Amino acid sequence: MARDGGDLGGRPRRESRAGRGRLGTYQDKRDFTRTPEPAGATPPGPDGGPRRFVVQRHRARRVHYDLRFEIDGVLVSWAVPNGPTLDPAVKRLAVHVEDHPIEYLDFEGVIPRGQYGGGDVIVWDIGTWEPHGTDDPGAAVAAGDFHADVHGSKLRGRLVLVRRGGSRGDRRESDQWLLLHKADDDAVSGWNPEDYPESVLSGRTNEQVRADPDREWRSDLPPAQASVALRPPHIPGPTDAELTALDGLGAGGRWEAFGRELRLTNLDKELFPGRDGEPPVTKRELISYTARIAPVVLPYLAGRPLNMHRFPGGAAKPGFWHKQLPDHAPQWIPRWRNPDAKPGETTTYLVADEAAALVWAANFGALEWHAWTARASDPASPTYALIDIDPGEATSWDDVLVLARLHRTALEHLGVRAAAKVTGRRGIQVWIPVAAGLTFRDTRTWTEQLSKAIGAIVPELVSWKWDVRDRGGLARLDYTQNVHHKTLVAPYSPRAAAGAPVSAPIAWDELDDPSLRPDGFTIRTMLDRVAERGDEFRTVLGEGQQLPPLH
Ligand code: MN
Repeated sequence: MARDGGDLGGRPRRESRAGRGRLGTYQDKRDFTRTPEPAGATPPGPDGGPRRFVVQRHRARRVHYDLRFEIDGVLVSWAVPNGPTLDPAVKRLAVHVEDHPIEYLDFEGVIPRGQYGGGDVIVWDIGTWEPHGTDDPGAAVAAGDFHADVHGSKLRGRLVLVRRGGSRGDRRESDQWLLLHKADDDAVSGWNPEDYPESVLSGRTNEQVRADPDREWRSDLPPAQASVALRPPHIPGPTDAELTALDGLGAGGRWEAFGRELRLTNLDKELFPGRDGEPPVTKRELISYTARIAPVVLPYLAGRPLNMHRFPGGAAKPGFWHKQLPDHAPQWIPRWRNPDAKPGETTTYLVADEAAALVWAANFGALEWHAWTARASDPASPTYALIDIDPGEATSWDDVLVLARLHRTALEHLGVRAAAKVTGRRGIQVWIPVAAGLTFRDTRTWTEQLSKAIGAIVPELVSWKWDVRDRGGLARLDYTQNVHHKTLVAPYSPRAAAGAPVSAPIAWDELDDPSLRPDGFTIRTMLDRVAERGDEFRTVLGEGQQLPPLH
């Protein structure tokens, strides 16, 4: 399909007639529920209501603005390096690029790196327009002289696009157009688009969207499916009826939940030994917890390959890593095929984009969920820097707390937002949301500098020896987890240990709570805690940060 990118984010087009017939099949797929137009809008055009236009601010190899008009069922498009303006004294270069499908009209999010136009996109302006001086704007574009009266949030008044001469002076050859604003009532001298950097849909800047995108545009999919949600919004939990049905299943059977049919097995199996005199935790309890925590945990898993730590024999027996999505997995399971997999490496990963997929993994024996630090769309770019306070044999819980509090103090002083969680075993981890553009080398180096400075304060607690046998039982501040193929356990994941403890996010001031324990929250208590306190980890989903220099 048509995509733009390149230096101006645009592949210059050669066809002289805009759109006629080229994207005709897309005309049937217009989804007006996704546009900001009032409900009930009729098909746009001369007979059916307003035509729409959009300006997307697109950071690809260079920042530019994509100006797109709905004409003949497609978005006829120009890439404008310096952006449109209301200033009538200014003429802008506009490069005519390929038509885009209507589905792109309200796209805001990221285009995966390495794909054409890779970068981030905001809907900088959107609205309606009418052609001026013709009732056949497609013909006006073909003739190289196009006038439009636009009604946007930022742009208004009459825009004029005029094709310039080509290399031989032939205007039909050229992709280079001039964009200007007529000196009408809407003109504003000195008006600069860069003074208005926010999306008219979300209020966010390109930087903010890049750091925490809602959607990505997948040019390998049909236009109607190309805008892919990276985080399911408002994820519903299981219904009471679904939970009752789970309780009513015998040892196994078909469970209808989340709109999927799941085949559950061995539901009465004791997966986790009991703890503190409590009964063992069954697989049914694990499935129930997984279904009910899914709305909270999915934002941390969605869009990311998932390494499953499987314990088919239960937590009392050894587990193993299972990364390859098995062939018997249902077709609806979201997955990611790693294009860079070498022979013998995992080719297809589960991606827990929906609750039912995580339930499927739990039924498959995945007691622990370890999602990648980067998204599948950009595996070389971590979205978090990870601090792993990994206790040694001689490290007491008080020692772990000392190290965690020192990290808290350091991050506070640096002005870096981060969230902490107990691991569900003996340690504490701190996750820091980082800005786009950082590499694993960047996050690893920064974390190493920070942790080494902290370790120097309490050298009696920390070892930097690689081999655990050389550490003398001391703790390790494991900055080496910041590598593309390594994962830490996801927040809210169960751990394979007695009592089914959970890696539980905590508030920073809980480090001073004498009752805090690293494995104190279990799948039997976690849901009440979330109901009471909300998601203590959500700062990790917020805007990514540049990591400040530490020297
Ligand atoms: Mn572009």
